[in-house]
Amino acid sequence: MAERWLVVGGGTMGSGIAFLGARGGYDVEIVEPLPAARERARAQLERDAERAGDGAILGRISWADAIPSRSEAALAIEAVPERFELKRDVLVALAGALSPEALIATNTSSLSVEELADAVAHPERVIGMHFFNPPARMELVEIVGAPQSGDGAIERAFEIAARIGKTAVFASDTPGFIVNRVARPFYLQALRALDRGVASIEELDALARSAGFRMGPFELMDFIGLDVNLATTESVYLRTQADRLAPVARQRRMVEEGLLGRKSGAGFYEYDDGRAARFDPAPAPVASGLDETESVAIVGYGGLADEIAQLCEERYAKVQRVASDELLDELSLDATIVVDVGNGSADRGEVIAELDSLLGPETLFFVDAYATDLAACAQRLRHPQRLVGYGILGSLEGQSAVEIADSEAVSDDALELAQEFCGVLGKSAILVEDLPGLFLGRTVGSIVNEAIVAVAEEVASPDDVDVAMRLGANYPIGPIAWGREIGGARVARILNRLADAEGEAFAPHRSLWILDVEEAPPVEGEVTE
Ligand code: NAD
Repeated sequence: MAERWLVVGGGTMGSGIAFLGARGGYDVEIVEPLPAARERARAQLERDAERAGDGAILGRISWADAIPSRSEAALAIEAVPERFELKRDVLVALAGALSPEALIATNTSSLSVEELADAVAHPERVIGMHFFNPPARMELVEIVGAPQSGDGAIERAFEIAARIGKTAVFASDTPGFIVNRVARPFYLQALRALDRGVASIEELDALARSAGFRMGPFELMDFIGLDVNLATTESVYLRTQADRLAPVARQRRMVEEGLLGRKSGAGFYEYDDGRAARFDPAPAPVASGLDETESVAIVGYGGLADEIAQLCEERYAKVQRVASDELLDELSLDATIVVDVGNGSADRGEVIAELDSLLGPETLFFVDAYATDLAACAQRLRHPQRLVGYGILGSLEGQSAVEIADSEAVSDDALELAQEFCGVLGKSAILVEDLPGLFLGRTVGSIVNEAIVAVAEEVASPDDVDVAMRLGANYPIGPIAWGREIGGARVARILNRLADAEGEAFAPHRSLWILDVEEAPPVEGEVTE
């Protein structure tokens, strides 16, 4: 006889989880008191079974309208609405119905598994199994261990996840677990950047997509529902009290006004026929032959400088490399574009001032805007109108667009040449206001930082954080791996500048340096807040 599951709540998540169990060969009983919800779930299950091409799945599912007084189920999962008292009562009823060896799981997104387990006899059998929506398609499950959860219970949850074809990661019982916590800065920094006028909603979304996110933060909030997204932020903030994760007033206001996103017909975008117009910058035209008009010099060393130099050599006839600041006087004086890469984490004001004294006023200085304070730098220059900042995270390969800082002093000619240069390298250019970290730097930097804080607070291992963000949030690369690619010192530089401008809450965590160590030592398990 197949092992049994009991799934409590037949809504969006419960019906999806029941489908996973039945597809995995378990007999599943769904407890759902509302006839209308049962009908919806039945229809959804039929569609899912049809898509899976396996009619036998439905034969393994049965229904009840209340939790039975006795059950032989080996696993019970509750997916009732996110209210503490309701979930606690359900868990208590399950504990009375099931054998003490059975596993009891909650699919809560935001409540404390420890507090829920407290009410239950034999709390060592209680764990969190946090599935993602839609359960049938999202590959990840976060297995949440409360202090009371037994090792055996956690081990069995991993075995069950493997049997139903999911990738499981371990998360400790902390606010938002891994995904809902590490993803917060994606939304919050985008909202803050919008408030500061870094660029328009469409441009910020396009930049996020250009860096590999499947959706931009605003279209994603519209998709999730601004109210649902805000509720997650509020619950994580309430429990962490970390000011960097505080909700942004604009979102609260929009929720109050009923601008909830797709489901209400409008949010950050308008949805006339269910779809919003999308802005995608024009793809850069591919030039044929080598560009003979410009003479490009690349100042700096390391991965990004090598990558830019290689691309330039493929596209420009005249390319020079200056690997060290000591060799600036070897720079050819007819350079028309100087790309200053530096080391990615130190302010380049002094070097650029020196270049300014060497080169004619027409030469474009294309400078790393994440590391260098462009406004301060411009004040030191004879010809500040030639200074244009760029934002590149870890590598050009990883992004299809480059954000370009549109500062006050810069001339239209210089901006145009900078955009043209990006085009020749095969990248689109999106103009943004020159504020610390521009948009991608501050946003991805803050995500990397949150991932490091999560590891330092022993929420999860670095590998599990990366797997969770790729599979649970569709990130193009795990944030720890991304941080290694960008460099810990570079992320720290961006966040220090952000903190100077917007408050200490946004300062980098002191463990960021581990990203720059070849074989990362384990992060000290200290709580920093
Ligand atoms: P839902 O409202 O779609 O479904 C909840 C269902 O539980 C309803 O059908 C309701 O009738 C039923 N229910 C209410 N009281 C019950 C009881 N006493 N016994 C049995 N059934 C009862 O909600 P959902 O979106 O499926 O969310 C359920 C849980 O999953 C929540 O804890 C939520 O935080 C979590 N979660 C949701 C998502 C998501 O994206 N929707 C993702 C991960 C986790």
